[in-house]
Amino acid sequence: MRADPYLTPICLFCGLTPILVICLINQTNFLLDQQIAALEEQFVTEGGYSEKLAAERLKERQEHKATDPVPDCPKCGKPMVLRTAKTGKTAGHQFWGCSAYSDCKGVGEV
Ligand SMILES: [Zn+2]
Repeated sequence: MRADPYLTPICLFCGLTPILVICLINQTNFLLDQQIAALEEQFVTEGGYSEKLAAERLKERQEHKATDPVPDCPKCGKPMVLRTAKTGKTAGHQFWGCSAYSDCKGVGEV
């Protein structure tokens, strides 16, 4: 709605009355304040972006661990590592070897 230039001063740039421009600025500020408050509340209750990424990564690791469990060494109880035999009758075959090799010589079948 255009204002009567003889009764109400208008902005030379946008043609709106200064009071209308100030009202739009106030409305914009109000909406931005509401949005910032909502984002702050969401951040406090749900965490930030990097927190969500870390949580997803931990969840993925847990699921992967559950489907592909790594056995513990039967001799010392440390986690085992999947290795490939390089020599002997079983050369080329995979086996579980203790992660504490060479202190522990514990092995297990895959
Ligand atoms: Zn061991």
